[in-house]
Amino acid sequence: MKTYDLIIIGGGRAANLANKVAKLGKKVALIEKSSLGGTCANRGCVPSKLLISYADVIRNIEESSRHYIKSNIEKIDKEKIFKENNDFIKKVDEKYMSKLNENVDLYRGLGFFLSNKIIEVNNQKLTASKIIIATGTSPKEVPYKNAWTSDDIFPLKKIPKSIFIVGSGFIACELANALDALGIKIKLLVRNDKLLSNEDEDISKVFKEEFSKKIDIAFNTSIKDAKYENESFNIVLENKNKEISNHTCESLLYAIGRESNAKDLELENTSIQIDDRGFIKRDKFFETNAEDVYVVGDAAGEYMLQHTAAYEMNYLYKLLYEEEKKALKFKYIPHAVFTDPEIASVGMTEREAKEKGINYVVSKTDWLASAKAQGTKLEYPFTKLIINRDNYEILACHMIGPQSSTMIHQVLTVMHIDNDVRHLKEMLYIHPAISESLLPASINAIKKIESFNEKN
Ligand SMILES: Cc1cc2nc3c(=O)[nH]c(=O)nc-3n(C[C@H](O)[C@H](O)[C@H](O)COP(=O)(O)OP(=O)(O)OC[C@H]3O[C@@H](n4cnc5c(N)ncnc54)[C@H](O)[C@@H]3O)c2cc1C
Repeated sequence: MKTYDLIIIGGGRAANLANKVAKLGKKVALIEKSSLGGTCANRGCVPSKLLISYADVIRNIEESSRHYIKSNIEKIDKEKIFKENNDFIKKVDEKYMSKLNENVDLYRGLGFFLSNKIIEVNNQKLTASKIIIATGTSPKEVPYKNAWTSDDIFPLKKIPKSIFIVGSGFIACELANALDALGIKIKLLVRNDKLLSNEDEDISKVFKEEFSKKIDIAFNTSIKDAKYENESFNIVLENKNKEISNHTCESLLYAIGRESNAKDLELENTSIQIDDRGFIKRDKFFETNAEDVYVVGDAAGEYMLQHTAAYEMNYLYKLLYEEEKKALKFKYIPHAVFTDPEIASVGMTEREAKEKGINYVVSKTDWLASAKAQGTKLEYPFTKLIINRDNYEILACHMIGPQSSTMIHQVLTVMHIDNDVRHLKEMLYIHPAISESLLPASINAIKKIESFNEKN
């Protein structure tokens, strides 16, 4: 049996953690069953956003008539675009390999527990004083043979002419938007009448209106049957009125959520426990029910975002190797949806604020105070601030409009340093940048609080 200072199962974001610990002179075993770099770099955030960058250019050209410019896209070289994307993915593992510290032994294979402290991989037994589980998630299983998940999309194998996409979350919407813009015939199948239902209701309502103008969406519809024959799917759809329709498409993609990879870890050989959804339980210091065995990132099933996974891994390093003894409490967790329209959000939805009985005000303002925003000739973009009426704390900011994912960082900075909406009013903005629209948003929120205080 080989003995290490640390064993990490899962070489996604945790590959960086392995290097960091190895630099301290510790012997680290890193176990990865697939490509280093994990979901984000190989089949998630990065390849999807590279595709979306093309979609953004295409949409701008397609919509240039709004600016009195007549344009025509002659050709979208999908082969080149897909090749470039695949070339990026091909290099991910190599890039991570080249950075591996000499104190890291990489085991390529499926790792699983024989006991709390003994791991087996490729018929070898390993043990360590500390073990970290960073095994992430996988897409939920698809119900029909030859149907894809987002894991099958990347690397992009063939370029279908038509794809039916099942789902209504951010992965389904981002892929629908990108592939539709590239000229692939897309039909999004949504079993109820909502898109992005985790977003604040005001945002998801406007998103639905705008997104439906671009993408062919069948709401309240599900697949009753799907058969793959002669390189295409024959699909039977049923809507809420029990009406049946028959369709054909080349590919069928399911983006209906992700599940824990814990099932492969043979946790029944350990005292590690899982929750009702199959995710590994941990305490506030990321420790599982087995002493010195930790779980981090998506494997813990809490936030499922690359930036939170990375943050948690840096934090675990501090806990284990820098004697930091404080539990990590995220001050705020932002996210974005890179669709057209783009969405960015941080903090609670208004519904959550209501349910929690918080005293809050809502400021909902469009972006038209900024000339640059006016120049986009889009009327829907808006910012919704939810502010604690008792102390001016920013409880949430929800945005929909171009560059929301960039714009929101200004609000995040205030929340990070000294969370008080009055800073957004006091700061000096560049005129007439789109970010300037945060000035009326904050003024409006402050006015609402002051007028409430005057009346009470
Ligand atoms: C299409 C898509 C788009 C996304 N876009 C975004 C985005 O824009 N922004 C964002 O913040 N997040 C996004 N995400 C989510 C993001 O990818 C994850 O939150 C992030 O990858 C989590 O990192 P992780 O290291 O915890 O897990 P992972 O990256 O999933 O890494 C886990 C690793 O463990 C390996 N593994 C699992 N079990 C075993 C085992 N038993 N033995 C050995 N190895 C094992 C896996 O092969 C994998 O490499 C997206 C995800 C998808 C699918």
